Amino acid sequence: MYCKKCGKMVEDGSTFCPYCGADLREEQVEVNENEVAEAAPANEDNGPWKVFALVGYILGIVSLAGSILFIGLGTGVPGIVLSILGKKSTNPDRQQKAAKGLKLSIWGLIISTVLYIVLIVVLTILVMNGTIDAESVEFLEFLGIDVNMGN
Ligand SMILES: [Zn+2]
Repeated sequence: MYCKKCGKMVEDGSTFCPYCGADLREEQVEVNENEVAEAAPANEDNGPWKVFALVGYILGIVSLAGSILFIGLGTGVPGIVLSILGKKSTNPDRQQKAAKGLKLSIWGLIISTVLYIVLIVVLTILVMNGTIDAESVEFLEFLGIDVNMGN
């Protein structure tokens, strides 16, 4: 190879020109940096994961917002599953949504379950005390509560 500064012939792979002292590594380093930049993977998510993330997030909101009506009993588990799958998305925005969806779904499921149990316990106590009338007993049976107290 030849020195690009003084043009004299130098040994191949030399880092410095022995005649003029020019740094001969410069060009090679620049090329390597360009190769690294081009080799970086594109941050594109074309898979189903970002859809799962969005649906999981929506189910999480529905689960928590509807927990007073026990909606989380139905939407909580699908919300948790889809949010976990959605975390596989390489899209950062969808990853955040999936993480939020997971928390919302878990809380929606927990609150819905707790409220449902509280309702059943309270109504059962009211039936045992004789506070509730026949129409309410039919409603309790509809909820799956055994009100046959053994007459
Ligand atoms: Zn030189």
